Amino acid sequence: SPDLISGFSTVYTNGSMGTIYSTGSAQGIYVFGKDQITLGRMIGQGCYGAVYMGELIRSDGSPEHVAVKMMKDSLEEKEQEEFQREYQILQSLNHPNIVEVKGVVYDPSLLLIMEFLPMGSLLDYFRMFHTKPNLRQLMKFAKDICDGMDYLVSYNLVHRDLAARNILVASDDLVKISDFGLARFTDKDDNCYKLRTDRKLPVKWYPPESLHDWKFSEKSDIWSYGVTLYEIFSYGQEPNLPGVSNNESGDVKETDELQEIVKLLSSGVRLPCPEHCPNNVYKQLMLPCWEMNPQDRPSFSKLLGEIRDVEI
Ligand code: ADP
Ligand code: MG
Repeated sequence: SPDLISGFSTVYTNGSMGTIYSTGSAQGIYVFGKDQITLGRMIGQGCYGAVYMGELIRSDGSPEHVAVKMMKDSLEEKEQEEFQREYQILQSLNHPNIVEVKGVVYDPSLLLIMEFLPMGSLLDYFRMFHTKPNLRQLMKFAKDICDGMDYLVSYNLVHRDLAARNILVASDDLVKISDFGLARFTDKDDNCYKLRTDRKLPVKWYPPESLHDWKFSEKSDIWSYGVTLYEIFSYGQEPNLPGVSNNESGDVKETDELQEIVKLLSSGVRLPCPEHCPNNVYKQLMLPCWEMNPQDRPSFSKLLGEIRDVEI
């Protein structure tokens, strides 16, 4: 492929066979040799590193396109741990609507080897390629994400970064959840996770209790899911809450700004129904995700039923 350049010349001592390391759980982590991976062009960049196209050569010699998430060299120890956690979580998951992790390479810093989805993120699909899928396709995307999220709930996982930029497009009829950089296992007792990170957070996708108390649960992921639905049914519009000074980056800024958003949400302000979105989708699927009280929001399994029943 002309997109590929050979970036790795050093031979990794594990050789090209790959090694299964036992992790104490039933699953092993598949470790590929450095010489089995050829890096291509960069396809995405985030706070811990970048994502590249790549080619993986299996031990039987067969080549395969992959996506490679590479950690920055300059990361502090705590950030390195967060990056490692991402693949530890991902390698224990197996679902048609969750991106597949094939293994890791030690460079010596960590490379995460994932299946490559050439159509990229759902946000790019809308914005860069100006794709306008029909309503049936949009509903299928909504269902796929809900299915994948319901699976995460069964593993006591909160994703915490559910947004169209983190959904990958496999085909015009299939999407997968990715970017588990903020995902965490919840506390068994209250199914909640209290945030401890310095990472910039996607404020526009967060409910009041996350913005206010840094509490995360299935019900905060549900709120983000509602915002993701807004992105889907608006073909990739930025989810700007009416009355909030526009902040394209969506990062946490001043506490004042956060308080302003919490106040607006508490007073009942919500994202409007996107222009071409059926009113039933807005009323039956989106609005319930944005109930002030987390207990009043639906679960992903309940929403799956709603998605099936909604008339459009
Ligand atoms: P970050 O933590 O930097 O946000 P992501 O995992 O979200 O990392 O990846 C950043 C971007 O890279 C995505 O928005 C998408 O455009 C691209 N990308 C990531 N993984 C893949 C993949 N498996 N196949 C194709 N593109 C990908
Ligand atoms: Mg991302």
